Amino acid sequence: MAKEKKLVEEITSMDVDFAQWYTDVVKKAELTDYTSVKGCMVIKPAGYAIWENIQKELDARFKAVGVENVYLPMFIPESLLQKEKDHVEGFAPEVAWVTHGGMEELQERLCVRPTSETLFCDFYAKEIQSYRDLPKVYNQWCSVVRWEKTTRPFLRSREFLWQEGHTAHATAEEAEERTQQMLNVYADLCEEVLAIPVIRGRKTDKEKFAGAEATYTIESLMHDGKALQSGTSHNFGDGFAKAFGIQYTAKDNTLQYVHQTSWGMTTRMIGAIIMVHGDNSGLVLPPRIAPTQVMVIPIAQHKEGVLDKAYAIRDELIQAGFKVKVDDSDKSPGWKFSEQEMKGIPVRIEIGPKDIEAGQAVIVRRDTREKIVTALENLSAKLAQVLDTMQKEMLERARAHRDSHTYDVQTYEEFVKTINEKPGFVRAMWCGDQACEDKIKEDTTATARCMPFKQEKLSDVCVCCGKPAKALVYWGKAY
Ligand SMILES: [Zn+2]
Repeated sequence: MAKEKKLVEEITSMDVDFAQWYTDVVKKAELTDYTSVKGCMVIKPAGYAIWENIQKELDARFKAVGVENVYLPMFIPESLLQKEKDHVEGFAPEVAWVTHGGMEELQERLCVRPTSETLFCDFYAKEIQSYRDLPKVYNQWCSVVRWEKTTRPFLRSREFLWQEGHTAHATAEEAEERTQQMLNVYADLCEEVLAIPVIRGRKTDKEKFAGAEATYTIESLMHDGKALQSGTSHNFGDGFAKAFGIQYTAKDNTLQYVHQTSWGMTTRMIGAIIMVHGDNSGLVLPPRIAPTQVMVIPIAQHKEGVLDKAYAIRDELIQAGFKVKVDDSDKSPGWKFSEQEMKGIPVRIEIGPKDIEAGQAVIVRRDTREKIVTALENLSAKLAQVLDTMQKEMLERARAHRDSHTYDVQTYEEFVKTINEKPGFVRAMWCGDQACEDKIKEDTTATARCMPFKQEKLSDVCVCCGKPAKALVYWGKAY
């Protein structure tokens, strides 16, 4: 019993220290480990399996909207990076450079890609000649490197995994349509699979991607009231095309520049899953993303027939399409429960001699701890229902949490007080002037998360300067 207690005791309570709780969960749920490369992590099997499921879900959605996968080099010649002025200024401070190949100093240094716009542009300039070559809708799954000063597992690391989509279109309308379409793909993944509700909107010029005309974003709220940018989609207009000379011959024989987009989602989303759904017993994974949905835990497994029944249940449920494991280790049931809870496995099924005699099993939900006694003959149907309900309720709970931590304010005094005292989103009107964004950041550390697509008018004037308001903005302190 002493040992059982220890597993949970090793996690700091999220109400005491959320940051430490996060670090503890990441470690105890065996998602990552530190390495001898500063700021870089090992993603362990339990963490990587979540990423594989995100990839699988996202890639299927990509392919349904005509995206093709490619792979480009991880190195970018310095001259190529410098072709688009805003872009290089945005990324230069955090770029890692390769200066030597073996013993020889390189004639031109190569950066390790922080993102691949420039390489795709270089590629597209050769690949696209005629309107017949358009559109190009490519994506790559890869890692990128950004030399961050402070790092945290999944949320900010020097090397992280992501996908980056890069497209080229004949018209501005088509590029805009694609930018929005991909943002909606991300929003769908977050809400339907990860059970994370999102606000869809547009970034202010200050917060938009370096080199973009417009950046669209989905923003989510973590349990501690901080915001997390969960996916972005950028419309580049023809800015990169002009810098890289990406032109095509149109049907009317005129030479035109292409219009481009890019969009990305990263391993940060694993951090979001932890921080939206986790509790003081560890991780809670939504059933649709969980690598293991069910842990069958035999009770009194030394007794005749118990383990056989546990395996039979596993086999039957796998046959029915669930992801199931049996914990047949020699640990005590209580310890197994704690481990299953720590790892966030959505449900456990308890089966012991008395259950077998009664022809039943006990399904226990990870999120609510609700115990559901079920006849063995109905197990598969009941399990489907329980997982489905749990998925829906996790989204609803996260939405209720976000909505109850979203505040509308009118005056600057109210703004500063709310943002400092009530973690969450603050909604307020803004004049469109970056000076107000700068002042707000200076005074509170909060940033403009997005101008939601669903605009409302809370008042006529900017919360900061009192000039006429142009947009409703979601403000927040962010990861
Ligand atoms: Zn203002």
